[in-house]
Amino acid sequence: MATRSKTLSKSSYIRSLQCLKSLYLYKNHYKEKDPLPIELLRRFKQGTQFGRLAWLLFPNGMDMSPKTAFPNAIVRAAQHVEACLLQNDNITLYEASFYSNSALTILDILVKKNNLLYAYEVKSSVEITPTYLNDAAFQYYVMTQAGFKPEKFYIVHMRAGANLDHIGTDDLCLSDVTANIIEKQDFVEAHIAMAFEAMTDEKLLFATKGEHCTKPYLCDFAGFCSRQENTEKTTL
Ligand code: SF4
Repeated sequence: MATRSKTLSKSSYIRSLQCLKSLYLYKNHYKEKDPLPIELLRRFKQGTQFGRLAWLLFPNGMDMSPKTAFPNAIVRAAQHVEACLLQNDNITLYEASFYSNSALTILDILVKKNNLLYAYEVKSSVEITPTYLNDAAFQYYVMTQAGFKPEKFYIVHMRAGANLDHIGTDDLCLSDVTANIIEKQDFVEAHIAMAFEAMTDEKLLFATKGEHCTKPYLCDFAGFCSRQENTEKTTL
């Protein structure tokens, strides 16, 4: 298998599903990214707090968070997780990293019980969106390729009617999405290959804006693409 010079994280994978040009820009022109809106920063912070709340459902786990978000740190953390899983049973790991063939992911909660693995990804919303399923399918794929196939994969989310500003563990519920994400595995494999090719495909710079730029999220290269298209119009 060819060695890949760049890595593909879960968020880059989700980015590539929306637009391959966005992945290309992220990997090659990161400085062109729009600044993060304050509201999004607030939601990230809320998501992190929600994730810590979910830890309480699985107490006495070990925090395996990588030291930084850089790929090298995630690969080192994945090696640590691997050693830990090979040597122990009946353990809970928080923020466990997995790495296989330049694809990497960090799972919110992993339980190993009677030599079987149970994966839990935490989402601070009531609805399980298609993006959450794509996110879980990518994680399942990387874990399986790394030799740690989950027996079951759950999304931990809010029950209907819960209020994020006053939330407790009683407001959390689990949904088993194993069957949904197993059926996506061929797609995930094919799309990962496409995403790695896109990272070095300069032709993507010529892709134009469209409806996909806001679905499912407002693309954070929208400013760059608008400037690029305006420049093209004025030079015609
Ligand atoms: S603004 Fe649209 S075309 Fe440009 S990178 Fe983002 S999704 Fe792709």
